[in-house]
Amino acid sequence: MRCDLCGAMIPAGSEIHSLVADSASVHGHDPSLDGSRILTACSVGHLADLQHNYRQKPFINAELWASKIALALQQHPDGLSTPQLAAATGLNTLQIERAIDWQREHRQSEHDPAPPPTQPADRE
Ligand SMILES: [Zn+2]
Repeated sequence: MRCDLCGAMIPAGSEIHSLVADSASVHGHDPSLDGSRILTACSVGHLADLQHNYRQKPFINAELWASKIALALQQHPDGLSTPQLAAATGLNTLQIERAIDWQREHRQSEHDPAPPPTQPADRE
């Protein structure tokens, strides 16, 4: 496994993990983990830096809802009506509307935020 901060390969068994709030993160199989992200770091110092970065990032409910909707729609390529979408995501109609509005405002031209760089760290 690689460090989420520096990208260094971590010997098996010595990774350090932590759970942080992240409204951009949804899990397909365990909705109770939606809105949280598992961090992996090579050292206590890098884990602290990663935790700091995520704590600076605002938690946006509409972003989390938009991610849940995107995930549900990926699983239903033929499309879903709003009530079907509500059933698939556990959101209500108002939350779905807010998520779609949020996405229109924030994701029109920008790409999804890229994960931290994970180039091999053996080139200095
Ligand atoms: Zn590291």
